[in-house]
Amino acid sequence: MTVTLSPVSIDCAFDAGNILLVDAGNPSRIHLNIRPDTHSGHFQWFHFKASGLTPGHTHAFSLDNASQSSYSAAWEGYQAVASYDQQNWFRVPTRYDGKALHFSLEPRETQAWFAYFEPYPRARHNQLIERASALPGVELLATGRSVEGRDIPLLRAGDGGAGKRKLWIIAQQHPGEHMAEWFMEGVIDRIQGNDATVQALLAVADLYLIPNMNPDGAAAGHLRTNARGKDLNRAWQDANIEHTPEVLFAQQQMKLYGVDLFLDAHGDEEIPHVFTAGCEGNPGYTDRIAALEERFRSTLCSVTRDFQTTHGYPRSKPGQANMTLACNAVGQAHDCLSLTLEMPFKDHDDAPDAVTGWSGERSKALGSAVIDTLAKLVAALR
Ligand code: ZN
Repeated sequence: MTVTLSPVSIDCAFDAGNILLVDAGNPSRIHLNIRPDTHSGHFQWFHFKASGLTPGHTHAFSLDNASQSSYSAAWEGYQAVASYDQQNWFRVPTRYDGKALHFSLEPRETQAWFAYFEPYPRARHNQLIERASALPGVELLATGRSVEGRDIPLLRAGDGGAGKRKLWIIAQQHPGEHMAEWFMEGVIDRIQGNDATVQALLAVADLYLIPNMNPDGAAAGHLRTNARGKDLNRAWQDANIEHTPEVLFAQQQMKLYGVDLFLDAHGDEEIPHVFTAGCEGNPGYTDRIAALEERFRSTLCSVTRDFQTTHGYPRSKPGQANMTLACNAVGQAHDCLSLTLEMPFKDHDDAPDAVTGWSGERSKALGSAVIDTLAKLVAALR
């Protein structure tokens, strides 16, 4: 018996949506492309809704231009995520053939969402900022503006009292790295919980938090750049109001308040582990900073299984750091512990989860673990 399937429709006209329909003539195999970032050749992030699915029938999706993406090698070992309600996301069978990325779902509903990683919605961002700003001891300190005029809130937890350490955490400079704002939600949830560790930390330090550095790129479904096609994490030497106002805002606020520690939260497409990158290539790198980096890493290892120090980026040679990166620029300018924190799009292979892979929930738990780490480290920062 031949079953006639209903047509499948593809939609991405929503927050962080990204897909281009190539061919939906065969509902069993839908051909798609990922749309490049505006004014940029970068692409890897995808996020779309498929409607008209037939429950119990396997629908396959092919991203035909996957091999031309920014990090094509990263598709090896990667599994796409899907959701029926945009709340619970799970991995689906995925295969890369060297040209296209193929994934499939035998749905239990007639519609499903698919994405590169569990998206952090802008609506949730707005609720997060509102919730955080209402907490005792937390204030909305300043608001930057993106190229397209979106808010870039800077929160401060703590009273800004004299002599307190100033700990900065920023996230999602790269807009497709949604795990970075999930991480920030974990930090803020922990502050809200106000346990003894948080109280001890905030007695001696203030936390300066920018949960989303690149709201235009996130809204547009970009992987890497802002609305002008600029990679914000390559703009820390020449930030300007026209092309990279997001970075300029962060730099101005850091100059105003000072920095004793800087953490820049990201996602990495290729490496299936959580790791940090430091400032070893900076001209101003010292034994003091090296010891602080080591202490941060060993402490974070001791508080969570979701961190490790074996896998990561190759170390920069002395004096050879790329100073356009936030981590290096801030570490150099403020002579402080400064780290890029990378979370995987795939999974943390030291403690893998076959259902979710690395996820929003695990990113949040890592944010909480970083608070424990900061509490143990804060006295040694200066
Ligand atoms: Zn990044």
